[in-house]
Amino acid sequence: MTSDYRKMWESIGLNLEAHDQLLQALPPAYGQVYMSQENRPDGMEYFDFVVSEVHGLRIQELQEHKAKGGKVVGAFCVFVPEEIVRAAGGLCIGLCSGIEIGTAQAEKVLPRNICPLIKSFMGFKMAKVCPYFESCDMVVGETTCDGKKKAFEILNDFVSVHLMETPQMKREKDRTLWRSEVRDFLSGIEELTGNKVNKESLLQSIREVNGKRRALLRLAGLRKNKPAPISGKDSLLIEQIAYIDDVARFTAQVNSLCDELEARVREGRGVGRQDALRIIVTGTPMAIPNWKVPHIIETCGGVIVAEEMCTGLRYFENTVPEEGETIVDMLESIADRYLGINCACFTPNEGRMEKLIQLSDEYKADGVINCSLAFCDPYLIEANRIDKALKERGIPVLKLETDYGQEDSGQLKTRIEAFFEMLSQRQVVRTPCI
Ligand code: SF4
Ligand code: SF4
Repeated sequence: MTSDYRKMWESIGLNLEAHDQLLQALPPAYGQVYMSQENRPDGMEYFDFVVSEVHGLRIQELQEHKAKGGKVVGAFCVFVPEEIVRAAGGLCIGLCSGIEIGTAQAEKVLPRNICPLIKSFMGFKMAKVCPYFESCDMVVGETTCDGKKKAFEILNDFVSVHLMETPQMKREKDRTLWRSEVRDFLSGIEELTGNKVNKESLLQSIREVNGKRRALLRLAGLRKNKPAPISGKDSLLIEQIAYIDDVARFTAQVNSLCDELEARVREGRGVGRQDALRIIVTGTPMAIPNWKVPHIIETCGGVIVAEEMCTGLRYFENTVPEEGETIVDMLESIADRYLGINCACFTPNEGRMEKLIQLSDEYKADGVINCSLAFCDPYLIEANRIDKALKERGIPVLKLETDYGQEDSGQLKTRIEAFFEMLSQRQVVRTPCI
C-alpha cells in the first residue's frame, strides 16, 4: 500500500503503529489460507485484489464519499437495513470484528469472559486500528444478544450509536415493534444525512441491494453441484467482502465469477477431490479474517458447500419485494424481510432447524459442522437443539466451540478428522457395490 494511504490513515485518526502491526499479520495469513488453494476460479482475482487493498482503495472511496458530504454508517448485524442507508445517500459498511485486537484496552471496559466478536469490536475502536470504524459517522447497534446490547452503551462513549430494538420473538406484536424500529431508523438516517428518503430513492436502493443478494444466491446455487465448482473458503471470502465493497461493482464481479463457475459445472470441473465430503457450516458469523475452521475443514478432505450463518445465507436469502405504493409499504416489506432471519437470539428459533434440514438435502451434504464462538450463549445453547433435530433426520453433526486464537487449531483438526472418518465410513456403507 502506498505512502499516500499513510497520510489518509493519519488524517482519520488511526494509531499508525498498532495499525502497521495489523497490516503485517494479514498477508501471511491470507497467503497461507487462500493462495495455497489449487484450481481456484480466475474470477477470484478481483476478490484477492480487494483484500490487498482492504485498508487502501476502499477507504479512499469512503473518504471521497465523505468529502462530498456523504455519510458512512457502520453495522455489526445483518438486521441493519442497508436499503435505508443507501436511499438517503449514505453508505453502509459491515464492521468485521473477526480478529483478536486491542484486547487489553477492551478488557478495561468489558469482562474478560465475553464473546470474542464483542471484545474485538471494542478493541478495534479503542485501539484505533480499523479505518472502516474510523470512517463511520454513526454506528448501528442492536439488542440481539445481551453482550452486544450492553457493549453498545459503552461504545456510544466513543462513537455515536443508533440502537435498534430487535425483537426476541416473531409474533405479530413483535413484528409491529420491529416495523416501528425500522421507521425510527429511517428518521435517524434522514437526520444524519440531511437527506429525505422518497419512494424513488428507496425503490432504487431496494433494487440495488436485491441485485447483490441475487448475485450471492446465484453463487450459492452453483455450489449445489457435485463437484462443487468453488471452495467454501473462497465463497466465505466473497460473503465477507459483500459487507464492505461498492454494491454495483461487487454485484457485477460476483455475476461474472458465476458465469465462469457455470462453465466449470458444464465441464464437470470442481475444486478439491472428486470424493470430497460435502459440509454445511452453521453457527456464529465468521468475520474477516476468521478463516480458521473453514481452512481446517478444507485441508482435511472436506468442501464447504453452504454457510447457514450471517456471513452466508442469512445475509442474502430472501429479497425485499420491489413494489409498494407508499414509503410506509416499502418499509414494512423491508422490516418483514429482515424479521425472517433465523438468528439464535430468537426464541423459539425452529426456522433455523428446518432450514438446516432443507439445506442438507438441497446441497447433498454429508454432514453439518455447527461452530459457535466461545461465550456466545444463544448459539452455544441452541447447538443442542440443532444436534437433536438433525440427528433425528439422520444428518451427522459436529459441534465445535472456538475463539479467534490459533491455540486450539490442533484440537479442532483432530475432531474434524475424526468426524470425517465417520462420514467416510457412512459413505462406504451407503454406496452400493456394483
Ligand atoms: S448472528 Fe444474530 S446478532 Fe449476529 S449478525 Fe447474525 S443476526 Fe445479528
Ligand atoms: S457471537 Fe453470540 S454473543 Fe457474540 S455478538 Fe453474536 S450473538 Fe452475541
